Amino acid sequence: MNKIKEITSGKAKSLFTTDNEKHLIMNFRDDTSAFDGKKKEALLGKGAVNNQFNAFILDHLESNDVPTHHIKVINQTDSLVHRLEMFPIECVIRNIASGSICRRLGTEDGLVLESPLFEFFLKDDDLGDPLINDEHIISFGWANQVHIDQMKKLTYKINNVLSKLFLDSGLILVDFKVEFGLLDGNKIILADEFTPDGCRLWDVETGKKMDKDRFREGLGDVVESYHQVADRLGMNIILD
Ligand code: ADP
Ligand code: UDP
Repeated sequence: MNKIKEITSGKAKSLFTTDNEKHLIMNFRDDTSAFDGKKKEALLGKGAVNNQFNAFILDHLESNDVPTHHIKVINQTDSLVHRLEMFPIECVIRNIASGSICRRLGTEDGLVLESPLFEFFLKDDDLGDPLINDEHIISFGWANQVHIDQMKKLTYKINNVLSKLFLDSGLILVDFKVEFGLLDGNKIILADEFTPDGCRLWDVETGKKMDKDRFREGLGDVVESYHQVADRLGMNIILD
C-alpha cells in the first residue's frame, strides 16, 4: 500500500492517493491547531495515538451499524479509507454546554442540557466555521434534505453509542464534531476522524478535561491524556 500523491493537507491530517482510485491513505500528523488555526503546535506522538484511537472508535461504530470510511490501519500514523465526496459541513452534538455555545448564548460552562443538541457549522476557517441551519444547507446547495436527515440520524446514533462506551470507562462525552461524505454518489458515510481532538471528554469523578481543551487552554499533558483515555477504553496503542 503506497502513498502516490498528496491531495489534501489540512491542519492535522494529510490525504494521499493510492494505486486504487477509490481508496486514500489518511496520515495523522502531530500538528495540532485551535482557534481556527491561530494557535498551532506539533505534539510529539499525537498522530500515532489519534490514528489508532480513531480506528478503534470507527470499528466500534461500524459494529453498531454506523457506516464509516475506515478500511484498515496501515501503520502507526496511517490508515486506509474510502475516498468520499465530502459535505462542507460539520455536525456537532452537545450533551453538556461548553466551548462556543457558551460564548454564543452566554450559557454557563458545564450546564447539562435537557436533551442532546444538534448543530450544523459551515467548514470554513476564514469565516470562523459559522453556525448554519438546514435552510442554509438547502439554499446554498451544500446537501439535500435526504442527506441532512441522514447526517442528523447518524450523528444522534453516534452520540448514543459513544456516550455509553465512554461512560463505561468513567468518561462523559460532553460534545463532539463529525463530518460525513458520499460514497459512490449516494451512500452517506462517516468520514474524517473521531479522536480527542474533535470531542470533549470529562472524567466522571473529577471533571478533569481529557481532550483538546488541554491544548486550547494550555493545561499541558495533551498526548498523555489521549493515551489515558485510550488505556481506559482498552485500546492497545503501538508506539516506536
Ligand atoms: P481541516 O480540513 O479541518 O484542516 P484535517 O487536517 O483533519 O482538517 O484535514 C482532513 C481533510 O480531509 C478534511 O478537509 C476532511 O474533510 C477531509 N476528509 C476526511 N475524510 C475524507 C475522505 N474519506 N475522503 C475525502 N476527504 C476526506
Ligand atoms: N470541533 C472540532 N473542530 C472544529 C470545531 C469544533 O473538532 O472545527 C469540536 C470541538 O472539539 C468540540 C465540539 O466540536 O468537541 C464543539 O466545538 P465548539 O463549537 O464548542 O467550538 P470550540 O469552542 O471547541 O472551538
